[in-house]
Amino acid sequence: MKSIFKILSLGLICVSYHSFAQQASTSNELWQGRQAAVVLTYDDALNVHLDNVVPALEAHGLKGTFYLSAFFDGSKNRINDWRKAAELGHELGNHTLYHPCDASLPGRSWVSPDNDLHNYTTAQILKEIRMTNVFLETLDGKKERTFAYTCGDTATGEGSFMEDIKGDFVASRGVRGALNLIGNINLLNVDSYGINGESGAELIQLVKEAQEKNALITFLFHGVGGEHNLNVSLEAHQMLIDYLAENEETIWTTTMLEAAKHVKEHQN
Ligand SMILES: [Zn+2]
Repeated sequence: MKSIFKILSLGLICVSYHSFAQQASTSNELWQGRQAAVVLTYDDALNVHLDNVVPALEAHGLKGTFYLSAFFDGSKNRINDWRKAAELGHELGNHTLYHPCDASLPGRSWVSPDNDLHNYTTAQILKEIRMTNVFLETLDGKKERTFAYTCGDTATGEGSFMEDIKGDFVASRGVRGALNLIGNINLLNVDSYGINGESGAELIQLVKEAQEKNALITFLFHGVGGEHNLNVSLEAHQMLIDYLAENEETIWTTTMLEAAKHVKEHQN
């Protein structure tokens, strides 16, 4: 009787060990063995990205994703600096040539008629997006990158172009603020938190929520220490990246390109 009990309990230990090992291997694959993935994205090719953000990230060995609209002054006047940023391992993402937005949507009176995405044909925006890839390739030599919808707009007057650019990018970033588990991420329109005026503690709190949920969190910054009406202070931004660096064993901070490749692999 005693020996039967022994065999039974040994079996139980084996079963529980086996399921533990399985769980461990699954969570090790997820987010490179970390609790959460964090992607830092910076839109509109601002000088502060090159002057404030890249040095701050580099001090911690962190990499960001910078979405450039090729026609903006911060793109065309800083070619060599963007080249250097790419050499350091930061992603140069596509944010179109001219940054058109849909003027027919509420709150868009600032969009000029020639830059109205609603007046574009889909063929027109595709040409613009693909030409921006050529521009970016001259900076970083790469054919693989991600896209960010300008103003989060995914359609021309003819309808959605999300499917049309599917083959051009590993992923496209949107503007809806949400945390997502790896299986729920829509690579055609990746959620991101648009940051404007949050404190460092508030930014860190978002990352902690992602850690608790084993989620991906993407931040969308414009101004960092100025240069845009959507802005975060240098102090708040610094607090966030200090936290990410201090917790690199539990948080995978990476580019949108690398995160999206990881998601794609997992979803397949
Ligand atoms: Zn933009």
